[in-house]
Amino acid sequence: MVYRVTASRQTPFHNLRATLMGLVLLAILPALGLALYHGLALRAQARNEAQAEAVKRARNLAAVQKEHYEAVRRLVETLAATTVVRVIDPKGCSLLFSQLKAQSGEGLANILAVSANGEAIGQAVPEAGDLFAPETSPLGVPTYAGRSWFTTVSQTKACVSEPFALTPDGRPAMTVACPALGWDGQVKAVVAASMTLDGLLQSADAATDGVVGVLAPDGVLLAAHPAEVAAVGTQVAGSSLARTVLASPSGNAEVPGLGGSPKLVGFDRLLPGLSGSPTVFVEIPLEEAYAPARKLLVEQTLWLALVGLVGLGVAWALGSRLLVRPITVMAGAAEAIGRGEFSVRLDAAGQITELSRLGRAFNRMAEGLEERQADLDQKTKELENSNKDLEQFAYVASHDLQEPLRKITSFADLLAKRCSGQLDENGQRYVAYMVDGARRMSQLITHLLDFSRIGSRGKAFVPADLNEPLDAALENLELSLQEHQAVVSRGALPMVTADAAQLCQLFQNLIGNAVKYRGQAAPAIAVTAERRDKAWVVAVADNGPGIAPQHHERIFRMFQRLQADQDRRGAGIGLAFCKRIVERHGGRIWVESEEGQGSTFFFTLPDAEGPSA
Ligand code: ADP
Repeated sequence: MVYRVTASRQTPFHNLRATLMGLVLLAILPALGLALYHGLALRAQARNEAQAEAVKRARNLAAVQKEHYEAVRRLVETLAATTVVRVIDPKGCSLLFSQLKAQSGEGLANILAVSANGEAIGQAVPEAGDLFAPETSPLGVPTYAGRSWFTTVSQTKACVSEPFALTPDGRPAMTVACPALGWDGQVKAVVAASMTLDGLLQSADAATDGVVGVLAPDGVLLAAHPAEVAAVGTQVAGSSLARTVLASPSGNAEVPGLGGSPKLVGFDRLLPGLSGSPTVFVEIPLEEAYAPARKLLVEQTLWLALVGLVGLGVAWALGSRLLVRPITVMAGAAEAIGRGEFSVRLDAAGQITELSRLGRAFNRMAEGLEERQADLDQKTKELENSNKDLEQFAYVASHDLQEPLRKITSFADLLAKRCSGQLDENGQRYVAYMVDGARRMSQLITHLLDFSRIGSRGKAFVPADLNEPLDAALENLELSLQEHQAVVSRGALPMVTADAAQLCQLFQNLIGNAVKYRGQAAPAIAVTAERRDKAWVVAVADNGPGIAPQHHERIFRMFQRLQADQDRRGAGIGLAFCKRIVERHGGRIWVESEEGQGSTFFFTLPDAEGPSA
């Protein structure tokens, strides 16, 4: 028969499975760690890219302004060399300048030509507000002679670029001025152009969604886009933004922006060659700047989780199929063997070599056990048959022997009664011996018959209070106990599972012996019980002459009596009876005694769930 056991479904977290999951987790942990490390590296790279992008934006804006500056400077140099300036043609100058201003777009605010004595020759935008507004000389004539760019150019006879500064009407502007030299090398006129940051701010519109600002070296905000973020002219030198931006020519940092919230700020010097050059900075909100890096990390984490879960799922499924199920089947089969079902076999123990080997070994073991069990069954049967035969033999023998014995006894009696006058003293003694011998033989045969019936005629084991068979035995022995003034004491006796009638016989034999083999003093007998290793040990102790150790085993054999007992009646079968009864109950019997010290007979009885009869 092929035995199949379906896997038991007690709890989803089987021990083996949990172990398997743990092992898989351990195995994939380094890979997951590596992937996580890689993800973090990618994230750091994305952050670096975002920071580089912030600097790039600032550089692009600075480049726009620089290009613009170069163009204006070239324009001013060129204009200084034109005839209209050299010949001091006010109309020609104004016309040319206004045309050039119109062509050059936002960043160029005004162009002005001034004669050598500081008077205006002409300008592109006459009403340009504070840009190139003249001062009034002490004589009440409008003049530019006091302007620093004019005096510097007049003295150095070279072009000059003044740093960006706020005009009185609050506009950031810088002046580029060049001299128009005559053939004698003297300054004939000075051409100046006023540049603003409008071009830069306009390109910022398209270049970035973030805040763009321009900061003067002294910490004054020269421009801001969008305009509502901060007022132009605000002194921000104390802010960490200004401290960071002004500390180095170019770079990036995470600092609170103009609005106060943390930003990624990229910055660059506008005109690095010129002294007092302002710095342009670009603010990008941190969430926006690091959005790609965060997205990357989230994606990476999700992938990792997915890979981990798939790995665990596969391990779970394969573990169940390849390990847990076959092992559960084997456990079921082993339990069946434990219950004595030796016909159990495993059909296949799984695809794993070790398990199938285990399965084959299990099957071989089961076969071996089955064979042995069959062998054992056979022998037990033979033994039972032979026991029955023996019992039958004992019964028949004793039954058939009783008859001729009865004849011998009755005819010997007749002989004694009827022919007593004809027999002499010797003859009468011989007849008496014969009668006595025949009676003892009859008793022996009866004992043998009883002995043979202990196993087969015993009653079923039932729960019984040990006090009851003891009481019954004491009742049977009442006369003898009284006659010898014997005292029997007892301890607390337990419930046992036993054949109470046989226990009564057991107590009767042991207590009867204690009285029979008494010493000088009146017999004192104690019956106690104590629990040892799942069994009850019952002790019957007396104060008799004791038994020498060399006889401790012999006295439990059939017809074994000690030499000293020949004058006391007995067949040497009582203790053999006791042994047979105790062994039928699955226990053992022994004696502990020293000569002159009294004897204690012990026997064990199994627990209440003891053997079934
Ligand atoms: P018997 O019929 O002779 O009493 P048992 O089998 O009951 O046979 O006893 C065997 C021998 O063990 C006895 O002859 C006796 O010598 C010894 N014996 C048994 N019980 C005791 C006892 N309580 N004290 C001393 N000797 C004992």
